[in-house]
Amino acid sequence: MRLSRAFLPTLKETPAEAQIASHRLMLRAGLIRQTSAGIYAWLPAGLRVLRRVEQIVREEQDRAGAQEILMPTIQPAELWKESGRYDDYGKEMLRIRDRHEREMLFGPTNEEMVTDIFKSFAKSYRDLPRNLYHIQWKFRDEVRPRFGVMRGREFLMKDAYSFDLDKEGGEHSYRQMFLAYLRTFQRMGLTAVPMRADTGPIGGKLSHEFIILAETGESGVFYDAAYETTDWAGADVDNDDVEGLKAFFERVTTNYAATDEMHDAAAWAEVPEARRREGRGIEVGHIFFFGTKYSAPLGLSVAGQDGMPVIPEMGSYGIGVSRLVGALIEANHDEAGIRWPDAVAPWAAAILNLRPGDAATDAMCEDLYAKLGDEAVYDDRSARAGEKFADADLMGFPWQAIIGPRGAAAGKVELKRRATGERIEVSLEDAIAKIR
Ligand code: ATP
Ligand code: MG
Ligand code: MG
Ligand code: MG
Repeated sequence: MRLSRAFLPTLKETPAEAQIASHRLMLRAGLIRQTSAGIYAWLPAGLRVLRRVEQIVREEQDRAGAQEILMPTIQPAELWKESGRYDDYGKEMLRIRDRHEREMLFGPTNEEMVTDIFKSFAKSYRDLPRNLYHIQWKFRDEVRPRFGVMRGREFLMKDAYSFDLDKEGGEHSYRQMFLAYLRTFQRMGLTAVPMRADTGPIGGKLSHEFIILAETGESGVFYDAAYETTDWAGADVDNDDVEGLKAFFERVTTNYAATDEMHDAAAWAEVPEARRREGRGIEVGHIFFFGTKYSAPLGLSVAGQDGMPVIPEMGSYGIGVSRLVGALIEANHDEAGIRWPDAVAPWAAAILNLRPGDAATDAMCEDLYAKLGDEAVYDDRSARAGEKFADADLMGFPWQAIIGPRGAAAGKVELKRRATGERIEVSLEDAIAKIR
C-alpha cells in the first residue's frame, strides 16, 4: 500500500469524545469511524487487524475440533419465546418487525438458533459430540456504549456451541474450549486470566471469563500471583486426551481468580497475602456449560445407544473479536501511538522514504516495497520526515524501514523496531529477513 494513494486517514488532534487510550488511538490512527453511538465502520488498517485477530481465533477453534458455520444476524422471535428468553433479555435486544408484522430481532447471541439448526439434523448418538461456531456481528443495545469498539452496540463475536451425549462429554468439550482460549490469547501476546464467572442471562453453573489485566477495564478482579507464571499454551496437552486435559484444566484453575461479581472473601483470605493481586480487567472471552437449558425447551433430543431419547448437554463459548482490537491496543501502546504485536499488525513494516525524488532513495524504497509486497506500507508522500516518523509511530507498524540518500548510497536501511525503539543499520536483504 502506497501512502500517497491509501485511505489511511490519521488525525493530529486527540478526539475529545475518547476517554481511553485505545479509543483515542483507534480514531487517531484511522482504524475506525463511528457512524452511530456504539456502531463503527472499519477502515482499511482497522479491518486488516480485525481480520488477523479473527483468523487466529478461527485457527484455534478449528484446531480444537470446532466446525465453522455462518448463521444470520436477524433471527425470528419465536425461537426466543420457546427458550423463554424473549421477555427476559430486556432492552439490550433490538427488536424489529418485518413488513408482514412478524417479530424479528438482531441477534445478541445464538444459543436458540444453533440448537434449532442442530435439531433438524441430529437424530442419534452418532451425531454427537459436535461443536459448531461462527464469527458474526451481534447487536446489543448497551445502555452506555463507550470506549469505542470495547463496548459497542454492533460488535463482532466468535461464538461456539457444543453438543454432547452426557455431562462428562460436555465438560470435556468445555475444557477443550478452555485450552483453545488460552492458546488464542497467547498467540496474540496477551495474558488473559481465566476467572470463575457469573453466568448471567446465558444460564448454567460452570463458567469462566477470560480477563486481560488493564487499568481501564470495566471488571474488578482478584487473582493469585501464580497466574503471572502460568503455562498458558499447554503445549504438551492433547486436545482429545480426556484425562490429560482435565489435569491441565485443574492445574490452571486451582489458584484463586474471580471477578468482583463472583468474589468470595473467605476463599480470598486463604490466599497468602504476598500473592494477592487486585486490579481491573477487560473481559475478552466467556465460556459456559449449561447442560440442557436450551436443548430441553427447544425440543432437541437424539436416540441414545439403547434407543432411548437423550437430551444433549450444551455449552457456549464467546470471544469478543472486535473488543480484542481495542484490548490489544490497551496492552500495546505508548505516548507516540500503537505498538502492534507482530501477530496482529495490519502491515509488518512501513517503508519511510526520507527524500522522494532522490533517484537512489526512490530506487531502494521501490525495490524493498516490491519484495515485501502486501506486508508493507510505503510512505512515498512528499511530506516532512518528522511527519512520516510520527505517523509510522502512531500507526504502530512493528518495523520501520527508514531510507534516505545517505543510506541508499551505502546500500543500507535503518531498521527501527517499534516496540523497543531499537535501531540497526542493515542491508536490504537483512531488513527483509528481519521483517518476515
Ligand atoms: P460485558 O460484561 O462486557 O457486557 P457480556 O458478559 O455481556 O460482556 P458475553 O455475553 O459473555 O458478554 O459475550 C461474549 C463476549 O462478547 C464477551 O466476553 C466480550 O468479549 C464480547 N462482548 C460482549 N458485549 C460486547 C460489546 N457491547 N461490545 C464488544 N464486545 C462485547
Ligand atoms: Mg453485557
Ligand atoms: Mg460480562
Ligand atoms: Mg460475559
